[in-house]
Amino acid sequence: MSVFWSSVVHSLTPYTPGEQPKLPNLIKLNTNENPYGPSPRVIEALKAEAAHTLRLYPDPNADRLKAAVASCYGVTPKQVFVGNGSDEVLAHTFLALLKHSQPLLFPDITYSFYPVYCKLYEVPYKTVPLTDEFEIRLEDYAQPNGGIIFPNPNAPTGRPVSLSDIEELLRRNTESVVALDEAYVDFGGESAVPLIDSYPNLLVIHTLSKSRSLAGLRVGFAMGHPALIEGLERLKNSFNSYPLDRFAIAGAVEALEDREYFEKTRNAIIRTRTALVENLRAFGFEVLPSAANFVFVRHPQRDATELCRLLRERSIIVRHFRLPRIEQYIRITVGTNEECAALIEALREILDKVTLR
Ligand code: PMP
Repeated sequence: MSVFWSSVVHSLTPYTPGEQPKLPNLIKLNTNENPYGPSPRVIEALKAEAAHTLRLYPDPNADRLKAAVASCYGVTPKQVFVGNGSDEVLAHTFLALLKHSQPLLFPDITYSFYPVYCKLYEVPYKTVPLTDEFEIRLEDYAQPNGGIIFPNPNAPTGRPVSLSDIEELLRRNTESVVALDEAYVDFGGESAVPLIDSYPNLLVIHTLSKSRSLAGLRVGFAMGHPALIEGLERLKNSFNSYPLDRFAIAGAVEALEDREYFEKTRNAIIRTRTALVENLRAFGFEVLPSAANFVFVRHPQRDATELCRLLRERSIIVRHFRLPRIEQYIRITVGTNEECAALIEALREILDKVTLR
């Protein structure tokens, strides 16, 4: 605490990201990173970018990247906004499009950054409980609102909402922005991007951190009606002209263009997830159906804190949220086959020893 802090800073409760420990031989299954690394074409592009031209500012509009996003998703560059990770895109969305007098609606169990942005930007909000099976029930969002946001698939549950349910929501909810955070959609969800031409209040937010394995480069983007994009651009240009540096632009373009590598790695993750779910169920874990690169699980007889501690002793880290309704759940990122096999071996050993709760 400091007397020099503004009242805003005093009142903040910042988001806590999953830890990035620097332990040797760590099996890191806690922050939904991609185990495969980015396309080799990305690495080549980054090397080429390490040049004299770094003395120059990057393109403030990242036009090359917008064109690559547009061609990858079948939209126009005017329907694309890019930012420094989807967290930055989300932050701008909260202030530019979701802050109104009516409350913003989002699930009670969801990406824990949403309430943080609401506090920072003084966005009134109301949480809508997931069902007992941790599903988003979109009928529950038929109430006065200043906007609606949720991840699809949801995080940390991994449960997806169908495109037909989303379209029904959009038919009903025409007076406020519906923002869909599709960070994990490439691992089995249905993207709402094809709907953006029909619904001017739909914004779809993506990241290159997960299915394109570029969490370290910090690139995210949003797609929606040009008027929504213009709102985001106005905010961005009042905040930071150059959120994407030369490396980020060059690397992101290659990641989007290398479709073959993208398909290969995401399919590998989906296959590993299927095997992981089967193995966890065989140990008695309850596993929510996942369309993401992580699984959300609980063991009916074992304490989640204790399981995490024992995994950690074996150099395996997973994510545990000490929050109401989910304090007995663990979120496990899908790693390589070898990493998941090591997790299963560790659990086999642990479950033999841990006392029943
Ligand atoms: N949305 C969701 C649901 C997430 O889990 C994450 C990752 N923490 C993000 C957005 C942000 O991802 P990034 O800023 O790396 O694009």
